[in-house]
Amino acid sequence: MRCGVVIVAAGRGERLGRPINKALVPLGEKPLLLHCLDAFQDQEDVHDLVLVAHELDLDFLRSGHLAAQLKDLGVRRVVPGGARRQDSVLAGLKALQEVDGALIHDAARPFVSRKLVRELALGLDDHHGVLPVVPVTSTVKSVDEQGFITRTVPRNNLRLAQTPQAGRLVDLLHAMEAADKDGVEFTDDVAALERAGLEVMTITDSSLNSKITTESDLSQAELLLAQILRKGKE
Ligand code: C5P
Repeated sequence: MRCGVVIVAAGRGERLGRPINKALVPLGEKPLLLHCLDAFQDQEDVHDLVLVAHELDLDFLRSGHLAAQLKDLGVRRVVPGGARRQDSVLAGLKALQEVDGALIHDAARPFVSRKLVRELALGLDDHHGVLPVVPVTSTVKSVDEQGFITRTVPRNNLRLAQTPQAGRLVDLLHAMEAADKDGVEFTDDVAALERAGLEVMTITDSSLNSKITTESDLSQAELLLAQILRKGKE
């Protein structure tokens, strides 16, 4: 299916506690945001790529020194995001052109693999939505407001949602606009498809595709990147 990519980078990354947007924080020798773009380059099914940025970063990303790099890495448009992640996603989806499917990816996940991108795009030929997941390996407890355990949740059927999250564009737009109208909030994108009653298939992804939220995540990512670069040189 002809797919477009929406990279969401419009959050402030407050948990990282830096004065600049998390997406612009350096990882290795380049800003975090640039790392994930490699996985979408020269992919047979990827035909459009939109970057959703914070209002305050727009001028810089559209005309600063990063603009040329973004263009070289396939970014066709940089559009303003919104207050919530789902507002930013919807802005990105509306900016896609001449595609039938959408892959929505967090700029905060620098290590997404080319293989996963390919599998997600292929999955959209058969499903309304496709979600990369990892199995839950720790025991899961439900607790009350004081912190007392109320339940041990069986983990066999539990999965952690990752990105890119894939859906057919028309379904995602309808489902997200309906959710918006009804005042429903989501922490991920395919949740809107689930709410619309559409089936979403999961792909268990064993690659390292973790999200950078805290300083400790960033330090781990630096180590991982050094390892990847070392391997590349061997
Ligand atoms: O805050 P968190 O790390 O969960 O955000 C996940 C991704 O969503 C990040 O790449 C962030 O920039 C993006 N986001 C956004 N617009 C918002 C909030 C988050 O694009 N309003």
